[in-house]
Amino acid sequence: MPRKTEDIRLENLVKLLLELFKSDSTREELKKSLKVGTSTLSYLISELMKLGFIEESRRIYNLGRPSQVVGLKKDAWNILGIKIGREAVSGVLFDSKNNELERFSRPIFSNMRANSGYEKALRDVLNYFKSLKMPLLGIGVCASGTVDSHKGRIVYSPVMNVKDFSISGIIENIFGKLPVSVLNDVDSLATLEAFLNPEKDALLVSYGIGIGASYIHEGRVFNPVRGLSSFEIGHVIVENKGNCYCGQIGCLEYHSSEYAILKHYLGIKKSFKYFIEKEEEVFRNSLIELREKARNPDDLLLEAYKKAFHYLALVLGDLIVILKPARVILFGEGVVGDWMAELLKEQIFQRFNSLVIGNFEMEVEHQIKFWEEGAAFSALLNFLPLLVASKRAN
Ligand SMILES: [Zn+2]
Repeated sequence: MPRKTEDIRLENLVKLLLELFKSDSTREELKKSLKVGTSTLSYLISELMKLGFIEESRRIYNLGRPSQVVGLKKDAWNILGIKIGREAVSGVLFDSKNNELERFSRPIFSNMRANSGYEKALRDVLNYFKSLKMPLLGIGVCASGTVDSHKGRIVYSPVMNVKDFSISGIIENIFGKLPVSVLNDVDSLATLEAFLNPEKDALLVSYGIGIGASYIHEGRVFNPVRGLSSFEIGHVIVENKGNCYCGQIGCLEYHSSEYAILKHYLGIKKSFKYFIEKEEEVFRNSLIELREKARNPDDLLLEAYKKAFHYLALVLGDLIVILKPARVILFGEGVVGDWMAELLKEQIFQRFNSLVIGNFEMEVEHQIKFWEEGAAFSALLNFLPLLVASKRAN
């Protein structure tokens, strides 16, 4: 069926708003990025001005003549981004220019790490933002673990000790009917990365106490049809020994995460389960010290990383052979130096033939955004068309 002119029009209005979300732009710049002619662009701009989304202002250069730029009005919409993680449930309210308006979080202590503790923390965060009485375009939530984005729930997160946890149910209970997007935390940052750098397929890898990944293909985050988050590489099995806190034996996280480094380097004897449960109370200082030292590791520490990264290099190498990403991007609390990307790449090429694995860039992301920002952006991407359509209908 041929697409209706109206649908194409709505799509172009949304595209223009998303382009302006990146930055204010001149009409010339917008014509290029949207690939439309002068008259179509004027049409789109005047409609969005009428709807109250955008405004035109003068951009002053230090040298040369000032020029007119088009930009989003900062009150065009507000979005709430929430991160549900091992250490906290935290929310950030953003305006349409991605400025942080409010922030509120509830720390999670070890005795709260279960469905009931997380539900209470999430309700506190939601009630705080509800009390601000700001109209919301929607809410984006990201969470550790396997997430079912169709049903808006966490299927399983061993690191939070949460199983079958309905996020959208709790939100509906407090906010009523409001657009809500729920996805895995690494996927939420990948959504933003895919929007900003759509040209190259990329594997995003988060590294710290936990290990996670997300795959960007053709400018979109890969998700299977049934809506579950994939690339939960932390609990793929790489060895026949090593009791993981998830209950399996030989998980990647057991052998490659910062727990493994601490074990090799400081000789920590405690089980991984104990470590994950008591990390803040017992191991927080060792971890901070480790990250500090790892900026410039001595030989002994480097040896510990080599041992641990051995397994991570195998898993990443396997994924690179299968997916052929152009970029592999490392980020996370545990990534404290560019040398980590170099070491991993070196270890990958020790095991894989360059003809098998092909070319890829391995980089450390220093500019990585907040989790909450990724969550809010996912909601923006999903629900901006709804907002524009409803404003046009009025
Ligand atoms: Zn595991």
